[in-house]
Amino acid sequence: MLYQHGTLGTLMAGLLEGTAPISDILKKGDLGIGTLTGCDGEVIILNGVAYHADARGGFRQLDGTECTPYATVTPFQADESYFVRHITDANTLLDDMKRRAASENIFFAIKITGKFETMHVRMMPKQEKPYTKLKYSADKQPEFIYEQINGTVVGFYTPELFHGIAASGFHLHFVNEDKTVGGHILDFELNSGAIDISNIETLEQHFPVNNQAFLESTIDHSTVAEDINEIE
Ligand SMILES: [Zn+2]
Repeated sequence: MLYQHGTLGTLMAGLLEGTAPISDILKKGDLGIGTLTGCDGEVIILNGVAYHADARGGFRQLDGTECTPYATVTPFQADESYFVRHITDANTLLDDMKRRAASENIFFAIKITGKFETMHVRMMPKQEKPYTKLKYSADKQPEFIYEQINGTVVGFYTPELFHGIAASGFHLHFVNEDKTVGGHILDFELNSGAIDISNIETLEQHFPVNNQAFLESTIDHSTVAEDINEIE
């Protein structure tokens, strides 16, 4: 089961108010990704613990009271596990995962635990109210490249049909073994690592029904898909 609160499409439209506490998200799964109020940074959920990497390079463990406008989690259970070495092209590895997953037409969750030669991440800078479309703050996101770093990649593959509630293809976040850095993954090289894939049968999409801005907004759907492609 994949549980998602909010959608990427509504973030794109500038609905960035946190509408669910992280503690609620953690009740639905132990592995996942997300962001905080204002689309502040990157949330990484691993083994039932939520971490946060911000655009200033800060990193901390969340206590659960923080609110998120968009988060996705699953009770992770590997259906497919294998080991790889010397991956210089992340896309080759990800393409191989697509073939090993049950289908490209379902969601699946992945976990890569290993030694990375390089890990290239970015963190979304927090917006303050009044919020604007996400692409305006996405323009200013800092990027970091870490070398020789142990850690874990977590995230999801979204089938093309669902582009809009999430970004189709892979959306992956990283947390290092020491729990001191993390972020939204742009690219990586893997020395060696364990790959786990969890096929997902059910999508539970939760909407922020207590948020007046969400309930009353008219979203310009004509630009959502394009905006996602631009920044993800
Ligand atoms: Zn992300």
